[in-house]
Amino acid sequence: MLIVMKVEATNDEIETILGIITELGYRGHPMPGSQRTAIGITGNQGAVDASRFENMPGVAEVVRVSKPYKLVTLDLRPEKTIVKIGDAEIGGDQLAIIAGPCALESREQAFSIAEAVQRSGAKFFRGGAFKPRTSPYAFQGMGEEGMKILAEVREIYGLKIVTEALDESGVDLVERYGDMIQLGARNMQNFSLLKRAGRSHLPVLLKRGLAATLEEWLLAAEYIMAEGNYNVVLCERGIRTFAQHTRNTLDLAAIPAVRRISHLPVIVDPSHGTGKNYMVNPLARAGVAVGADGLIIEVHDHPERALCDGAQALTFNQYNQLVEEVRAIHDVIVPVGVM
Ligand code: PEP
Ligand code: MN
Repeated sequence: MLIVMKVEATNDEIETILGIITELGYRGHPMPGSQRTAIGITGNQGAVDASRFENMPGVAEVVRVSKPYKLVTLDLRPEKTIVKIGDAEIGGDQLAIIAGPCALESREQAFSIAEAVQRSGAKFFRGGAFKPRTSPYAFQGMGEEGMKILAEVREIYGLKIVTEALDESGVDLVERYGDMIQLGARNMQNFSLLKRAGRSHLPVLLKRGLAATLEEWLLAAEYIMAEGNYNVVLCERGIRTFAQHTRNTLDLAAIPAVRRISHLPVIVDPSHGTGKNYMVNPLARAGVAVGADGLIIEVHDHPERALCDGAQALTFNQYNQLVEEVRAIHDVIVPVGVM
């Protein structure tokens, strides 16, 4: 259920309602907007008695939510969420670019790539210290050592750090060394991990599962929000299909589909979405053209020597060209209103 407050509702009125929701054993999620505040209710098994709230001061209307998700929807928050990290943001007017290697490999590698990322004007640096590899014998990442390098990158280059947590103890480490928790495709339905990220003060980048429907993906975001963390960014990174010309099939229709249902920002990962260097730039351009709020791109100083995902890593030149092209597209479509 969703309680929509009147435009002139006072903070006291909102607090009173939140107090009653807590007394009933539920959880209230106030979502302030530019027009009005709405309060989502979670934690109820059956229907909540609407008459309890309808006549309370400040209440405009009580709406039953028939969809399986409550907090991710535009019903609760008609305006887009903008996730802010210091002076950087995802979901606002600027196109957000998150770039860096698939995996941290050394201090030198990280610094060399971070310098190129900073020079491009991107605000976010990506890089995995804990890697979810298909084979247990493949490079698993540098672990906490890699996290420390990320913290140095943040310090020296002023970039915000986006890095994956594979498990709950990984979230502790991202909280210590990073700025945004990446939850990978393979963990999209790791519910205890989603709940742990939902209790973090850091924003979450939630990748779409390898074969997840839109509804499953949004419900995974709902898990995080239900714990009180409303700073979630969705990431389309391709799904498993019968196609063999790409590593995954990048489902760009998911961007407008999400946009129609949810206020959450959504970005595109054309690196994992294609798995092939020569396809990254064309699909990045397409992702921005369909209205993505940002891109996450793998770039490497020596792709041929990369310990992970070298085939999809861009060289610095290719990456710079991508940034220039997607910015030009973004500038054209923002006034048209695709976003
Ligand atoms: C990654 O970003 O390096 C990664 C492992 O992505 P995904 O979870 O989308 O496979
Ligand atoms: Mn990768």
